[in-house]
Amino acid sequence: SSDRVFNFAAGPAILPENVLLKAQSELYNWRGSGMSVMEMSHRGKEFLSIIQKAESDLRTLLNIPENYSVLFLQGGATTQFAAVPLNLCKPDDHVDYIVTGSWGDKAFKEASKYCKPKTIWSGKSEKYVNIPSFGSLEQTPDAKYLHICANETIHGVEFKDYPVPTNENSLLIADMSSNFCSKPVDVSKFGVIYAGAQKNVGPSGVTIVIIRSDLIGNAHPITPVMLDYKIHAENKSLYNTPPCFGIYMCGLVFDDLIAQGGLSEVEKKNVKKAQILYDTIDGSKGFFRCPVEKSVRSLMNVPFTLAKPELEAEFIKEAAKEKMVQLKGHRSVGGMRASIYNAMPLAGVETLVAFMKDFQARHD
Ligand code: PMP
Repeated sequence: SSDRVFNFAAGPAILPENVLLKAQSELYNWRGSGMSVMEMSHRGKEFLSIIQKAESDLRTLLNIPENYSVLFLQGGATTQFAAVPLNLCKPDDHVDYIVTGSWGDKAFKEASKYCKPKTIWSGKSEKYVNIPSFGSLEQTPDAKYLHICANETIHGVEFKDYPVPTNENSLLIADMSSNFCSKPVDVSKFGVIYAGAQKNVGPSGVTIVIIRSDLIGNAHPITPVMLDYKIHAENKSLYNTPPCFGIYMCGLVFDDLIAQGGLSEVEKKNVKKAQILYDTIDGSKGFFRCPVEKSVRSLMNVPFTLAKPELEAEFIKEAAKEKMVQLKGHRSVGGMRASIYNAMPLAGVETLVAFMKDFQARHD
C-alpha cells in the first residue's frame, strides 16, 4: 500500500505484504485460541500445529527427501559456522572451504577453532567478483566436507550450480542464508543446508538447518547442547523454547510461496526482477557498474557503483525521498546494493530502474 516503502535492505528484509496483513489479522487472537502466537506454550497443540505445518510446507517447497531432518534453531547463520564443524568433525579432521565473499570467509575462520579447514579457493584478491571453475579446484583428499556460501550477500556472487566433493565420503555444505527458497534446489546433493530466515523467509531469530539424518549424532563432546543437531532433531526443534513467533512467520511465508506456485514460479519472478536491474546497469554506458562476473551475478543482492562516486550520497538520498530505502552498499565495499528478495515486488524493481534512468539523465 502507499504508506509502505520499497525496502531494498539485505536483511532483515522486506516481507510479503499479504503475510504481514495475515499476521496482523491473527496477532491478537490466533485462530480463535484467545491468544497471540507469542503467548502460546511451545508445547501446546496450537503451536505444535504451527511448527508442524511450517516444516511440512518447507518440505513441499524444497522437495526435501525423507532422509533429511529440518531444524528450526536460533543463533543466526553465524552460529552454524561453528555448529557445522562441531557436529561433523573431530578436531584433527580436514575440511575445505571455497571462499567467494566475506560470509564464506567468516565461516572458514570460525571452523578453524574446531577442526582443520583449508581455503581451497578464495576470490579475495579480485575483491570477490567470481566463482572458480570446479574442475580447477584442488580438494583435500580426506576432507570431511566442502563448504560454500551459495549466495554472498555483500558481494552479490551466487553459485548457479554446485561443486561435487571429489572424495565420495565428503559432503557438500551450504550457507544459503540469502538465497534460501529463492529457487528450486536439489537438497539431496547436500549434507547440510543452513540459512538465517531474515532475508527470504521470515524475521530474524530463526535459523533453518536441513541435514541428512545419518549425519546427526556425531557431535564433538564439547559441543554446547544448543549446537548439537541430535538434541534438536530428537526433540523436533523443541528442546528448549524456540523462537515461536518467528517460526510462525516463516510458516506464513512458506504458505505464500506455495500459493505462488512453488519455487520454480518464484524463481521465474526473481530472474525477471534481476534481469531488468542488471540490464539497466549494463545499458548505462558505464554510468552504473556491477563488478560481478556476469555468469555468477546474484538474483538476490545486486551491488553497483557509480562512475562518479561523488554522486552516491545524492543517489541514495533522492531514492529514499521516492520511498526506496536501504540502497547503501555494505560498509566494506561501498557503492550501492539493491537486495531484491522474493518479497520485493516487480513494481519495486521497476520503480528503482526508472529512478536510475532518470538520475542518469540528470547527471550524465
Ligand atoms: N551468511 C550469509 C550469507 C549472510 O548474508 C549472513 C547475514 N547477513 C550471515 C551468514 C550471518 O547471519 P546471521 O546474522 O543470521 O548470523
